[in-house]
Amino acid sequence: MNENDTICAISTAAGMGAVAIIRLSGSKAIASCDSVFRATSKNKKLVEQPANTIHHGWLYDGDQALDEVLVSVFRAPRTYTGEDVIEITCHGSPYIQQQIVRVFINQGIRHAKAGEFTMRAFLNGKMDLSQTEAVADLIAAESAGAHKLALQQMKGGYSKQINDLRDQLLHFISLIELELDFADEDVEFADRSQLSKLVNTILATIKSLVDSFAMGNVIKNGIPVAIAGKPNVGKSTLLNVLLNEDKAIVSDIPGTTRDTIEDLIHINGILFRFIDTAGIRHTDDIIENLGIERTMRAINQAQVVLWVIDARLSDTEIQNELNEIKQVVSSQEVIVIFNKIDQLSEASCFTKLEANNDFPSVYVSAKKSENIHSLIDLLSEITNKFHVHSNSIVVTNIRHYEALSHAHEALLRVTRELQAHTSQDFIAQDIREAIYYLGEITGVITTDEVLGNIFGKFCIGK
Ligand code: GDP
Repeated sequence: MNENDTICAISTAAGMGAVAIIRLSGSKAIASCDSVFRATSKNKKLVEQPANTIHHGWLYDGDQALDEVLVSVFRAPRTYTGEDVIEITCHGSPYIQQQIVRVFINQGIRHAKAGEFTMRAFLNGKMDLSQTEAVADLIAAESAGAHKLALQQMKGGYSKQINDLRDQLLHFISLIELELDFADEDVEFADRSQLSKLVNTILATIKSLVDSFAMGNVIKNGIPVAIAGKPNVGKSTLLNVLLNEDKAIVSDIPGTTRDTIEDLIHINGILFRFIDTAGIRHTDDIIENLGIERTMRAINQAQVVLWVIDARLSDTEIQNELNEIKQVVSSQEVIVIFNKIDQLSEASCFTKLEANNDFPSVYVSAKKSENIHSLIDLLSEITNKFHVHSNSIVVTNIRHYEALSHAHEALLRVTRELQAHTSQDFIAQDIREAIYYLGEITGVITTDEVLGNIFGKFCIGK
């Protein structure tokens, strides 16, 4: 990929819209646009216009008018990419958009690759790598929680913290490397007890970041929920009711496409992802054993288990089932749902609710959509702990998680080596490894492969 040529792409979503934006970035962007733009004010030249100005006029393909447009002029280095940028706002017909792009391609402007504008922003030092990843997360954010985390990371999130840790390690490695230069003289420039203290502090910080990933991941991708219970208790009826309820609360986000059929529900800005519910839903059709196996798999992947029990069961039967739940769930949050209350008298509901102290529970009728709001209240109570506090730092990115885990392992080795008074070479080697992995997060150290992986996932035009 040539990083100096001028690129162009449609930046708005594919298809028809009221308006669309075509973006150009690079040294030829402004001149190139000038050659096809006729401003409404006569003789106006874009190349002569100051930065951050908008100009009205027409775009031409030779003598043929293509569209009435607005052209925004941004000048390097204070632009998204750090280069000269032109943004053309045209009418949103896919035909017009393609024709405009074609006019620029004919002038030798190259069509941008996925994420190339943002990659240039990174390469030109406008943002670090974790911030560019946050841009992708922000575009993909499907809930208030995911949105908040992406914004935090985009604003610099933990980049500064990671860079600080890395700088401190760099300071020590330079001293240890100095010792290696004087190996024959048996000197110690790097104070071992100070180093040990520093490594422990850094380990604690990294550990809290690594631990935050479990939470960050569920906020970004949804809290995995399994609906469990015996066949015919009303699991799929309940799921459908919840899905409908959600549609009433939050309208579908336009423009999001989902290749896999997943059941997602938003409650108070938190996304819930119902896992393998298709499997559970079909348990009736297949051999019982297979159904149980699937349910178990769903429970093991879940953070929240909605356990549905037929409220008409006798107290003993219910007690037995509650005992069963305790055997199959481990760390998951469980909500017991007594379903089919429409078949019960109010008084008997109450006694059963009183008798059950094991798990938070609700009485509902999935079929008649009764008391579903209590279930939703319970679910949001559980998720209070998933709310991001405004200044808490949360890792949401698997690449960062892996790099942090590697850095953590390397630093654990350093602590052991310091205790065992191992020679400088080994300590230096492991500190270097930790520095390397920390650098990977913010992009101080990158390979083309890493960049390709990150920006390949962006949409074209971003
Ligand atoms: P699953 O096997 O657990 O997924 O159960 P289903 O959702 O398929 O429901 C089994 C049967 O129970 C269906 O005939 C539902 O209409 C019925 N059912 C589900 N919820 C209720 C309810 O709240 N009240 C009543 N009376 N019937 C229900």
